[in-house]
Amino acid sequence: MNPRIFALLLAAAALLDAAEGKWTPAQVLELDRTWLSKQGLEIPPERLWDPKTGEGLLSAVISTGGCSAAFVSSDGLFLTNHHCLFGILQEHSTTANDFITHGFLASGPEGELRSKTTRVTMPHRFTDVTKDVLAAVPAGADDLARYRAIEGKQKQLVAECERAKGHRCRVAAFDGGLYYQLVDAIEIADVRLVYAPPRSVGEFGGEIDNFAWPRHAGDYAIGRAYVNGEPYRPKYWLPLAKEGVAPGSFVMVMGYPGTTFRAFTAAEMNELKRNFERRVDLYGEFIRTLEETTAGKPEGEIAVAATLKSLNNSFKNAQGQLQGLERGRLLEKQAEAERAVVAWAAGRPEFRDAMTARDGLAAMIEQNGATWERDALLAAIPAGARALSLATTVVRAAIERQKSDAERDPAYMDRELARMADRLEREQKNYFEPADRALFAVFVRRALGLGARERIASVDAAFPDAAGVAGRVAALYAGTQVMDAVQRRAMFGETPAQLKARRDPLLELAFTIVPEQIALRDRQDRTLGTISRLRPAWRRAVIAHAGKPVAPDANSTLRVTFGHVAGYSPRDAVFYTPQSTLSGMVEKVTGKDPFQAPANVLAAARAREFGRWADPRLKDVPVDFLSDADTTGGNSGSPVVNGKGELVGANFDRVWENVANDFGYNSAVARNVITDVRYVLWNLDRVQHGIWLLRDLGVE
Ligand code: ASP
Repeated sequence: MNPRIFALLLAAAALLDAAEGKWTPAQVLELDRTWLSKQGLEIPPERLWDPKTGEGLLSAVISTGGCSAAFVSSDGLFLTNHHCLFGILQEHSTTANDFITHGFLASGPEGELRSKTTRVTMPHRFTDVTKDVLAAVPAGADDLARYRAIEGKQKQLVAECERAKGHRCRVAAFDGGLYYQLVDAIEIADVRLVYAPPRSVGEFGGEIDNFAWPRHAGDYAIGRAYVNGEPYRPKYWLPLAKEGVAPGSFVMVMGYPGTTFRAFTAAEMNELKRNFERRVDLYGEFIRTLEETTAGKPEGEIAVAATLKSLNNSFKNAQGQLQGLERGRLLEKQAEAERAVVAWAAGRPEFRDAMTARDGLAAMIEQNGATWERDALLAAIPAGARALSLATTVVRAAIERQKSDAERDPAYMDRELARMADRLEREQKNYFEPADRALFAVFVRRALGLGARERIASVDAAFPDAAGVAGRVAALYAGTQVMDAVQRRAMFGETPAQLKARRDPLLELAFTIVPEQIALRDRQDRTLGTISRLRPAWRRAVIAHAGKPVAPDANSTLRVTFGHVAGYSPRDAVFYTPQSTLSGMVEKVTGKDPFQAPANVLAAARAREFGRWADPRLKDVPVDFLSDADTTGGNSGSPVVNGKGELVGANFDRVWENVANDFGYNSAVARNVITDVRYVLWNLDRVQHGIWLLRDLGVE
């Protein structure tokens, strides 16, 4: 290795431990400023988020609900990942006009592709509401009543917050209820796709390279937000960096990380392990089923493309979590860390409740074990057959709608119903009957295979004979109107009596399954109540024992993490450098999926048509790079920003050795994978010749 690069890598490594923590905007302001500037932050932290004005560069960081993104122009353009806007490509693709395969570049603003369901939110205000939430819990409430009281208060706070037009609010619990925050965001419902590269660029390396390094995917896409039919004009957007990153460069990743488990006790982590094992098994079967039933049928392949992609991602993620748990002995380490906290707390009366809290959490896990398999299968209904998922949603909505708005399951409150109707309509595009029937049969066979104490009575009654499952499923599909888009739209507005009067066999089955789902929700809410009662006491002791700022677990709220561009050693005698190049991508091309590249990309690469996008040190166009920032799922599409607050890339993944960082940060392998913005611009400039879009992005 070039000695200069090596020295830079070592310098970056010395800073590594600093990178742990997905900090909330408020916490960023509490971090030591000297430390931050030593890391490489060149702007005052208040430029990121000023609590006085409630704005800053973080105002440009938006959530797509599941992914992150950032405004990059004054007229509403935002950059995120290819895989985050993949659903829009699939929504508009047909066998004759296959945007998934060929990508999409609007010919001008009028040609952008509108999504039926994608919405974006941007941060507006964060308010601590811990006192209000806890005051709502009646004395002596059991854990279910406790949770329902918390939820009731949350609904009330959200309703007040959403009185302001265009606002979308939620109350987020941090570390299970250590504190609660009212997150007030501004929502934009008109989102359009402007540019996405062909699948062979956006997903180069496919599932083989997913969660891996070296990587050469151009996992980027550009969308635009509209308000009243006009491009949205954000007050803040991130300018594109004039200079690219190099090993050792300081970066910040800003976004909406979904879920992590670091605050969980070892007993809770053990249950999660079981969850991931079940997911590998179940999703593995779903994936095989979808692949087998659509192979060689282009219409079927397009229909299930988005579903398959997200199943594959969760499947591989679950495998990575399990491998990482094992390799890093993470459960053992957590148990050891807990013993240290317990010993420390034993002599401190103010933390004595921490011990009982930890024991109580273990008892809760034990109790959940009794119906664990059944609950896992019921909870997986939305990931399986569309017909079953949609039928139960329609029935559930009818039942919930009979209650007053405030008494409903939050997912079925008025604020959700219109968007739920959009989703129900959008699902038609994901439907391919042979695949769906096969998925339905997977669910039924698994339900019939449950142990004696975990039977799902409704499925037992509908499928009395295991040998007749396929025939019975076929009859259900032949007799139902749930998968007719027009009928389904009508059903979604009907009362339970009207739905029953239809005598639709699938709705009839759904009427017997929904009570099981409602009972499951009660069990889940009771668990959340227990957690809200116990985890805060445990976390208070853990944090006091740590004696330094501790970032809360990810919960889909806005966070910032600080890191540096750095390579790593995945195993003995191997060191990965942190940047990949266009020439490296060409070297990997085999011409066979997933290692093929579009002819125009290959031609420009082979002609070394780098334009101004080459990195001066690499003498090549940089494609992806690694940093040691602390990210997880949901950070996909997160803007990666340099010390001046300029955009250098779009985060899209983690390396294989780092998937289990959801359970604990390990500086040796904590690396996230980022598409270099220079690769985006190279593609746009030298391959697509998208002059108008470059101009809109401020590239002269
Ligand atoms: N690829 C992930 C996502 O989809 C990001 C990650 O897991 O780091 O959110």
